[in-house]
Amino acid sequence: MLNIAFSQSKYFVDILRENVKRGLRQKIRNGVWPGWAPVGYANNPKARGIDVDSEKAPKVRKIFEMYATGAYTLHSLANWCREHDLCGNLGKEIALSNVQSILQNIFYIGLMKYGGEIYEGQHEPLISKKLFDSCQEVMAKRGRVHEVHKNNFAFLGLLKCASCGASITAEKQKGHNYYRCTKKKGLCQEKHYLREEALTEQITSYLQKVSLSSQDTEKVLAALDTEQDKAREDAQSEVSVLKEQLASVETKLAKLLDVYISRRFIHRRIRRQKTKFAVSKNVVE
Ligand SMILES: [Zn+2]
Repeated sequence: MLNIAFSQSKYFVDILRENVKRGLRQKIRNGVWPGWAPVGYANNPKARGIDVDSEKAPKVRKIFEMYATGAYTLHSLANWCREHDLCGNLGKEIALSNVQSILQNIFYIGLMKYGGEIYEGQHEPLISKKLFDSCQEVMAKRGRVHEVHKNNFAFLGLLKCASCGASITAEKQKGHNYYRCTKKKGLCQEKHYLREEALTEQITSYLQKVSLSSQDTEKVLAALDTEQDKAREDAQSEVSVLKEQLASVETKLAKLLDVYISRRFIHRRIRRQKTKFAVSKNVVE
């Protein structure tokens, strides 16, 4: 009974899901975004459309304008949103990654991306395509610069500030690499830059404290060798046990097959005997 009940409810859920999907596709075809409106817009439940949010829209437009100048980072724009009380439609704070997805969302130029395809929306665009394109250019350029930047500094990403615990950043000045505190955790008493050569010295002296002498190294290597040998022996004995088990299973299987075949053979003979008997009975009748 339960099985029937479950399969029936699954059937209805499937139908429901199909209907919902069909409805969403229909909405998209009509140029109406079927989901939650992005920040700067609001869902209009009465007209079943998307309206411009007159309070947030100018701020969203401002983000695009600022980013297009190339003078603002995603980080500083996220801060700007916090300072100007711009938050997402569900009341959540706009984080750095949200800023990036806002700047990349073609919804703001009147288009919609749904299921990998682009549709023209009926909603009013917030910004021009030209402004959108210049934002994409800035972002693409930044991405590339960032990567080169990262590869240049040997110790970047490995260090934290001793005074405040914030990350350490690096920059190039007059042909030398310098490292300093990013001060992202607030005030920090560290005022100085550290040249990469000096940092290398510090790291080398630190590593010498924990490095192994050649004697110790030999001992460790020997221990590792014996461990490896032992592991190999263990594996071999395990393999032989498994092989034995496999052989016994195979013989059992062969026996079972024999029994099965002979039983079928007997059954068939009995059946044949029975039909013969029936036939002879018919003849007698
Ligand atoms: Zn610091």
